Amino acid sequence: MKIVCIGRNYADHAKELGNAVPAEPVIFIKPDSALLRNNNPFYIPDFTKEVHYELELVIRIDRNGKSIPKQFAKDYYSSMALGIDFTARDLQQQLKENGLPWEKAKGFDYSACISPFVPVAVHMQKVEFEMHKNGETVQKGNSADMINGVDDIIAYASKFFTLKTGDYIFTGTPAGVGAIAPGDLFEGYLQGEKLLHCEIK
Ligand code: ZN
Repeated sequence: MKIVCIGRNYADHAKELGNAVPAEPVIFIKPDSALLRNNNPFYIPDFTKEVHYELELVIRIDRNGKSIPKQFAKDYYSSMALGIDFTARDLQQQLKENGLPWEKAKGFDYSACISPFVPVAVHMQKVEFEMHKNGETVQKGNSADMINGVDDIIAYASKFFTLKTGDYIFTGTPAGVGAIAPGDLFEGYLQGEKLLHCEIK
């Protein structure tokens, strides 16, 4: 199982980090050891002083596929969830400055928090989601604002990586990312329903 992630998929988030809006999807992969499930707490690892939360819509792949045409992409998923793409931002910045791959900053253990899954809402059109940090709204997103929609992502990613049943796709984060600290509580809402709960230790 692998976790395919899309970077800079919302213009407002690309802007807040000072990144250009990419011409093609930005893709990276987290290993299966990155999974954090069952509302388990997240422990800040000791190799970073600045971990950011990024709330994202997550899709689970239902069928194996390679070079999937966009018009058939919707046959490859039927459930969605919320995820937090935990990112060691200080380490990522260092790696970016040195032109090195991001994996250590993005794919470390338990960096991919995923909520329970629910059936997808009308092919991911206008799916609303939001993140509460200690009871206050810090991120609000809508799938309609994605630069590359889910079907585009599946078509593009499957050109390079065969998608397999059970793979997950993190579809990018809207604006409002920020640093986490021990004691923080993050709650994710999908279409108004609370699905994700993650305490920081
Ligand atoms: Zn992300």
